[in-house]
Amino acid sequence: MQKYDIVIIGSGLGGLICAAVLSREGYSVCVLEKNDIPGGCFQGFKRFGRTLDTGVHYIGSMDEGEILHRCFSYLDIMDEIKLVRLNEDCFDQIVYPDQSYSYAMGEERFIEVLAKDFPDERENLQHYIKIISDIADAVTVEGFRKGKISTSNLDIFSLSAWKTIAGITQNERLRHLLSNPAMLYGGDKAVSTFYIHAMTTSSYLHGSYRFLGSSMQLTDALIRKIEGNGGKVITRAQATAIRCDQNRVSGVEVNNAELIEANHVISTMHPMKTLEITDRTTNIRKAYLSRLRSLPNSYGFFTVYLIKKKNSDPYINHNIYFYADGQDAWHRTSFPDDKGVIGVLTSMRPNEEDIRYTSVVELLTPMLYKEVEPWKDTLYERRGDDYRQFKEQKTEEIFQYVRQFDPALLENTEHVVTTSPLSYRDYTGTPEGSAYGIMKNYQNPLSTLIPVRSKVKNLLFAGQNVNMHGVLGVTLTSLISCSELLGEEYLAKKIGNS
Ligand SMILES: Cc1cc2nc3c(=O)[nH]c(=O)nc-3n(C[C@H](O)[C@H](O)[C@H](O)COP(=O)(O)OP(=O)(O)OC[C@H]3O[C@@H](n4cnc5c(N)ncnc54)[C@H](O)[C@@H]3O)c2cc1C
Repeated sequence: MQKYDIVIIGSGLGGLICAAVLSREGYSVCVLEKNDIPGGCFQGFKRFGRTLDTGVHYIGSMDEGEILHRCFSYLDIMDEIKLVRLNEDCFDQIVYPDQSYSYAMGEERFIEVLAKDFPDERENLQHYIKIISDIADAVTVEGFRKGKISTSNLDIFSLSAWKTIAGITQNERLRHLLSNPAMLYGGDKAVSTFYIHAMTTSSYLHGSYRFLGSSMQLTDALIRKIEGNGGKVITRAQATAIRCDQNRVSGVEVNNAELIEANHVISTMHPMKTLEITDRTTNIRKAYLSRLRSLPNSYGFFTVYLIKKKNSDPYINHNIYFYADGQDAWHRTSFPDDKGVIGVLTSMRPNEEDIRYTSVVELLTPMLYKEVEPWKDTLYERRGDDYRQFKEQKTEEIFQYVRQFDPALLENTEHVVTTSPLSYRDYTGTPEGSAYGIMKNYQNPLSTLIPVRSKVKNLLFAGQNVNMHGVLGVTLTSLISCSELLGEEYLAKKIGNS
């Protein structure tokens, strides 16, 4: 029976970053993935001859010297991924029925561009950017060089995102605009923390990029590194039990059969799901499990992929957010009938052969699990006619929504493919098909920020439910998990000085 230093559960970004770091530092690692194909949200899937991306549209902090660029440089994968830098004068276009605005890259440019539309708000915009940077400065390359990966300053987690934005300006339209990144963390006015808002906003200001080709290339690059370092990534290997001996992890049972022994286990599954398969002999309290179970998840997405005729649609080098009258990016979870289209994010990828054109346009709208709950006991591709009708109706609602703003976006469409939170639930194992994992709550940051160290010895958590979601958040969380084994100062300095 093979024994590894570290067995990692899940081959999404969180699991692969952990494996790439630890194998690079000399540990023997094995990644277990339940699906046929690795990658989690970084997995592409083929339809009508095109590869469609599962769950990543753009990534931030990727300019040279910025934090994610540093991490990927340390892992030696920068030459293996092809990226396109988004338009620096407008990487996000935010469109209301009466007017459209631009988010520009770089802190100064961001202020300059918005100050043209809001000349009386220049000072408020400067103040907004200052507080965003003060928080984002908690995680900087400089901090890494000095040996610091994580921040332990709880005060910054206790600020409300919405109240902070509302305190910046009285101008309603500007409040809406500054709230736009809430769509990127499932923001809820009542609970969301400004820390996540600031990290997300700052990250995109410091270099927003799209993949040229599928996001799978990041998965492939990381796996090549892991295997090159002697590590293993095994697919069709579902972790069905985490075995423990005297409150210490001893291995992972795969597919209810084989046991793979390990000195440490890192799980990127939802912490509740991890603990549900962990031996009952450990000292995990029932109260802790019920608390984890009770934590609300962020919403998921309903995605419409428009597969276009060859070379018919020009590639647009920015994202477009549409909001109908009176709508903004805050998700109104407190409204029981929250079923309509609440804003649409439009994203496209340039064709690899000719970057003037795009072949797939994605339209995404937030969707609560309760909308698809009637089909919760069904399986992929066997959900029945009523589910198909539900998806067709939702697609038509989204088309009508988009037509108000830009009907040309829908033209030249050859095929339509859709996914719902149920697809994510069944594919990535994410509870309720949530896009961003556990909702962070500024009123109670300690209970929603799950520490990477679990209550079981040598069992660590990583992935989007711990600390922060998204490419930046998941990468940083993986580094925090790895630093439990390597030492924070050692790993931070290696990345900061690489
Ligand atoms: C529609 C959508 C759009 C998004 N857009 C962006 C974006 O533009 N930019 C951005 O930064 N972020 C975006 N995100 C968020 C980002 O994709 C995620 O936060 C991140 O990729 C999550 O990585 P992860 O490793 O934590 O989880 P996942 O990618 O979900 O990986 C978990 C893996 O674990 C596997 N697994 C689960 N259970 C088991 C088990 N028992 N045994 C073995 N394997 C198991 C799953 O199959 C999966 O492969 C988006 C998310 C969604 C859903």
